[in-house]
Amino acid sequence: MSGPTDRPFYAGLMFDIAKLKVAEGAKFKLRSIDPQETIGWDGDREEAQAQTRELNGRLEELQELLYAEGVHRVLFVLQAMDAGGKDGTIRHVLEGVNPAGVKVASFKKPSSAELAHDYLWRVHAQVPGNGEVVVFNRSHYEDVLVVRVMDLVAKDVWKRRYHHIRCFERLLVDEGTTIVKVMLHISKDEQRERLQDRLDRPDKNWKFDPRDLLAREKWDAYMDAFEDAIAETSTAHAPWYVVPANRKWYRNLAISEILVQTLEGLDMSYPPAPPDIRSMVIPD
Ligand code: AMP
Ligand code: MG
Repeated sequence: MSGPTDRPFYAGLMFDIAKLKVAEGAKFKLRSIDPQETIGWDGDREEAQAQTRELNGRLEELQELLYAEGVHRVLFVLQAMDAGGKDGTIRHVLEGVNPAGVKVASFKKPSSAELAHDYLWRVHAQVPGNGEVVVFNRSHYEDVLVVRVMDLVAKDVWKRRYHHIRCFERLLVDEGTTIVKVMLHISKDEQRERLQDRLDRPDKNWKFDPRDLLAREKWDAYMDAFEDAIAETSTAHAPWYVVPANRKWYRNLAISEILVQTLEGLDMSYPPAPPDIRSMVIPD
């Protein structure tokens, strides 16, 4: 991965994404991360917004290169509590990126057809092909998060899924996929404010789902489930980044940095032009 010092393309402030990464096999304590923090960033809000705009332009270029080269596949997994900012992140961070090469796959409560298969069946069907970026808005991690907290399957069933998930992601990586996983980490107070906003604002009412309140009641159980899922599945080849997400401007910057630095690390180039291209003439 290219580090902050060998980044030739824009003159931004340094942002060390390694500080957000969960190391494989390390003790990981979600509760030790303050959702209000701006880890890895010394600048202020305006500087962050300016840098995010620059990164957005670079992301646009990198995505075009990815598409043109048609070699790599990029999977970006986004998980968060309700109102954690998944939709807003996708809207802001991917703004201006050519929609032809980027797909968002949202995973809802499984349909009866989906439930009639193993839990990775619907997930595998959505992974990126050559030259594609796919963003998972929720993912197979729901099968060790909501499924665990709401007791939808027995403990021995969800427990063995960590192993499946590690193997599944290893398969994808071995076959040419780059995987980045991000948890947007908000505080319980921040969630209350955002859910209240959905009640108060007519233009946001549609986002309010009374079931989110049931999940909120189980906040601590969710934090335990997130902590275990991240600790069990953050690997060198498919790392988790935990992004403090109470401040949206920091969240947008951090995720833009994670995506841009990951894509820079792929070392891509445009495919070679046909040898005689310079002498070709477009007829009238
Ligand atoms: P939203 O993302 O707000 O549209 O909500 C989607 C809902 O689907 C959330 O409540 C998720 O927890 C739920 N969901 C997603 N995947 C699963 C799953 N595998 N099993 C049960 N519920 C799920
Ligand atoms: Mg919702």
